[in-house]
Amino acid sequence: MLIAGNWKMFKGPADAGEFCRGLRDTALPDDVDVVIAPPYVSLSAAVQALAGTEIGVFAQNCHWESEGAFTGEVSAPMLRELGVYGTIVGHSERRQYFGETDETVAQRCRAALEGGLQVIACVGETLAEREAGETDAVLRRQVSVLEADDNLVIAYEPIWAIGTGKTATPEMAQQAHETIKAVLDLPVLYGGSVKPENAAELMSQPAIDGALVGGASLDVASFAAICQNASPS
Ligand code: PEP
Repeated sequence: MLIAGNWKMFKGPADAGEFCRGLRDTALPDDVDVVIAPPYVSLSAAVQALAGTEIGVFAQNCHWESEGAFTGEVSAPMLRELGVYGTIVGHSERRQYFGETDETVAQRCRAALEGGLQVIACVGETLAEREAGETDAVLRRQVSVLEADDNLVIAYEPIWAIGTGKTATPEMAQQAHETIKAVLDLPVLYGGSVKPENAAELMSQPAIDGALVGGASLDVASFAAICQNASPS
């Protein structure tokens, strides 16, 4: 079971350090792997505050080249040098607002894995795609550009459930996860308005291997409660 917190563009270095010290001092279940993904500028503060713990620090994106004329981008070797353990790629906000495509997501994913990072690659359908009955085809298309790897997990995040308070039912999530696993047999996290109150039911589905949490990961108590409620024991 893996619970990952995606902070998006929240928490500068001071807030990140305070959160991480709070999380470090909070009891977390042994059978849940916990990671947080702060903004780039807060990675160093998080790595320092979580040194010596089992909590991993992930970036929210990673470029496919190790260096070059790519203004505004950050590479896998740079992240590794900071002590960062992994990265998210292909978040729907990157696809929606910053022109990420299945191809650039695949390039970022491959480079991050080759650069020694763990990767959470995000996929998911829009509301229009779901209503048009295209969910399975969209997921198959997004997943089929990726290659299986021991250090890769997929996050299924239906776009209509991100930050909206609308959660996929456990049955909907289970079905989407089965579709993804039929293409690539990898762990699949669910993301989309996961909260302490719905974590246990979602995580009890057999094809759900953890959660990618946005809004509810910004508060130590709610993030820790999700980790506790996700614990199989
Ligand atoms: C996310 O951004 O990955 C996410 C799932 O957000 P939220 O939990 O806020 O819906």
